[in-house]
Amino acid sequence: MSKTIRITRRTLGAGLALAAELATAAPGRAAAPTGADTVIWGGPVYTADPAHPRVEAVAIRAGRIAFAGDRRAAQALVGPATRVIDLKGAALFPGFTDSHVHLDGVGERELTLNLEGAASAAEVAARVKAYAATVRPGEVIYGRGWIETGWPEMRFLQASDIDAVAPDNPVLLQRSDGHAIVANTAALRLAGVTDATPAPFGGAILKDKDGHITGMLVDTAMSLLRGVRPAQTAERRMRALKVGMAVENRYGWTGVHFMSAPWADVLALESLAARGEAPLRVYAAVDRQDADKLFQSGPRSVADDRIVTRAIKLYADGALGSRGAALFEPYSDEPTTTGLLRLTPDDTRPVLAQAAARGIQVCTHAIGDLANARVLDLYAEALPKAGPDPRWRIEHAQNIRAADIPRFARLGVIASMQPSHAIGDLHFAGARLGQDRLAGAYAWKTLLNAGALVAGGSDAPVERGDPLIEFYAAVARKDLKGQSGPGWHPEQALSREEALRLFTTAAAHARFADAELGSITVGKRADLTAFSVDLMTAPEAAIPKGRAVLTLVDGQVVWQAP
Ligand SMILES: [Zn+2]
Repeated sequence: MSKTIRITRRTLGAGLALAAELATAAPGRAAAPTGADTVIWGGPVYTADPAHPRVEAVAIRAGRIAFAGDRRAAQALVGPATRVIDLKGAALFPGFTDSHVHLDGVGERELTLNLEGAASAAEVAARVKAYAATVRPGEVIYGRGWIETGWPEMRFLQASDIDAVAPDNPVLLQRSDGHAIVANTAALRLAGVTDATPAPFGGAILKDKDGHITGMLVDTAMSLLRGVRPAQTAERRMRALKVGMAVENRYGWTGVHFMSAPWADVLALESLAARGEAPLRVYAAVDRQDADKLFQSGPRSVADDRIVTRAIKLYADGALGSRGAALFEPYSDEPTTTGLLRLTPDDTRPVLAQAAARGIQVCTHAIGDLANARVLDLYAEALPKAGPDPRWRIEHAQNIRAADIPRFARLGVIASMQPSHAIGDLHFAGARLGQDRLAGAYAWKTLLNAGALVAGGSDAPVERGDPLIEFYAAVARKDLKGQSGPGWHPEQALSREEALRLFTTAAAHARFADAELGSITVGKRADLTAFSVDLMTAPEAAIPKGRAVLTLVDGQVVWQAP
């Protein structure tokens, strides 16, 4: 009770201060409307600001938070030109930010064959067959989103599954984790991949027991198919990015950290933003092959920080599902392999040194415990030359040896994690890793307790990219049916407050914008998200059933549910 009174007094004071300021700004412009541009109320408002975690109303002026406090004080800020938005019971939060997304892939998912939810290899084949009927013979069919978990065939997809249904089209079907592609025979022939083709470093070409290729190419071996992939025209790239941004706004994301961004996409986003056509706040980490371009240009920002680029993305290994994650000990269900390490210290050190010298943040994908340890080793060498506040990150940080967990806080390395990976992967992670190694798997609570900063994301299009699924996964650590299994470590579930920080304050910190974004605090940018469900009080199971109803970026409504 005393807490409520304290908040009221504090926020009422702030409101009066603003009202006075607005009044003094008015003289000389007699007809000028006084008041805020926008006032939002009518539902619980959670600020992620510890000074006043919950308020009744928010006022926005010139794209920034002008007031956060009680409704009576907000009423005084409503002028003739003020837009008043009634939440009608929806819950308002600081803008949700996806700290790890492949924005081009999210757009592409809408423009290509979507295999999400296919329940068997046979269903994949049926979907390819239906799609093939809509394209010309010879045209490349590109699909993504299949995953064999739970399939009756109990194996990866292979070329023979799809040869018969699309004999006249090269077909490339990317696994949902993005770390493997199955090509049909027509595509393999076009790419010149045969039983004799050697796998490149950091990749694998899967073979059956007779030594014949199955059609599945893992990690760097996917590059053998580069010539087959549909040409990425500038026009199509632009279309994918626009569609991707619209999808993100609809889910309630106000901002994303765009991982592995091709340089062409950075330029495309910058030109869209300059024309006022980028309704999403984008922080880009450019793909390694374009790192030199960013080293040359230095950190970039356009359109009042709408598009900021000051990071590079590296890969240390592959993914757990396709056994590409690099482990110290062999896979529990495949003792002949420890996975695929995709970087060598000699190749990586000069890149890290350049990034350190030029104030560029490094974000490195590391899934297996070996990959995480190696990246921490390389960071530890490079960070002393990286200036006072480098905020380098490990993306995924999925499996970590107990000895390496305290190194995150000690080195100031941010763990950028995707809660939905846990509820998807934990169905097979026990088989891949064995029960002992699960103690350090998806261990976000342990990392937080050890003092690490954990930023939250989705890795869409690997996962759906719905903030409500991510939030649910973080606090429930159960799958969407409410189930969990042995070794899922329920003690790693986060509190609602901790989960909120993952997608707000921590996401802002992880992109150097903690002074501007991440909480509903007077003076910060008015990036806001409202969900139909109150994430802080709703029963767990209700969370993923909600939806985003209102998304604002810089005070502008970019999505409002009809
Ligand atoms: Zn990713």
